[in-house]
Amino acid sequence: MIQLQKPKFVYMGGKLRLWDEAMLHVGCEAVTRGLNVFEGVKGYWQPDGRFGVVMLRQHYERLRRSARLLHIPFDHTYDEYMRAVYDLIGALLEPDRDMWARTTLYVTEGHWGENTVADLVVTAYHQDKQLPEYINLGVSTWQRSADVSLPARIKTSTNYQVARLARIEGRAQGCQDMVLLNQWGRVAEATGSCVLIVREGGVYTPPATEGALESITVDIVETLAHSLEIKFVRRPIDRTELLVADEIAICGTLAEVTLVKSIEGLPLAKEASILGALQERYFQAVRGIYSHPFVELSCFESSTVRV
Ligand code: PMP
Repeated sequence: MIQLQKPKFVYMGGKLRLWDEAMLHVGCEAVTRGLNVFEGVKGYWQPDGRFGVVMLRQHYERLRRSARLLHIPFDHTYDEYMRAVYDLIGALLEPDRDMWARTTLYVTEGHWGENTVADLVVTAYHQDKQLPEYINLGVSTWQRSADVSLPARIKTSTNYQVARLARIEGRAQGCQDMVLLNQWGRVAEATGSCVLIVREGGVYTPPATEGALESITVDIVETLAHSLEIKFVRRPIDRTELLVADEIAICGTLAEVTLVKSIEGLPLAKEASILGALQERYFQAVRGIYSHPFVELSCFESSTVRV
């Protein structure tokens, strides 16, 4: 359980600190208004003994976009960002366990958009190397907020209040995750991942303009699908298409490619052969077992990391 781990170090204020010393003041906008933007990045042990972080540059670029949209200054270069991630992961790495890191820009000073100052904080958590289990997926009564209210394009914690409500709702129904519909009643995304469905041999996912985050994993899965000659199309998805889909999966940096066994209590009609093949190819690529040129891995030798 990621949220229960308290690893020894956190990166904050430009250096590693002990977990218990990483504090924010109750008066800062990060606390009073939940003002932050963040990225979750995932790293896997590679066959050559190095540790590889997936699509780190793309996460940095999306963090910049989120920061720009919320008027949060972010002047770290990519190299500085990468170094912060490497420093923390390097200090915490354990053999045979992968890691997920959360890189967050917390607004530590400023008021209503004036004199805004932010700090890059990195926390990282161990993850066991195992295939994600099949999940039950529901459809929430909570809605993805519209682009004119709280845009899904901005990866900020406040966007996850609704996701949290949806998960609480889903738990009572035995669902591990929930689909959020958009203001038009169509599929937007799941609480922390995007939705993929299969109909008649093709894979479909809603475009970001339907209220989904601009997902890096969807870009990967789309490219892998093309390499495997599987049809992949981004188009709006009606709610009822979930119920008649042959296969469903959710995908994201943390969710990876997680297959769905039931939707709103109904078992999926077919075995996940197409999404299962994409899942397998995804893990081969991120684990460096069978790399793909699109899937960039920032690799480092864990022993040479500066701590
Ligand atoms: N939607 C939401 C709400 C998410 O939190 C995530 C995870 N970052 C995704 C989609 C998938 O995005 P990515 O593939 O870039 O991790």
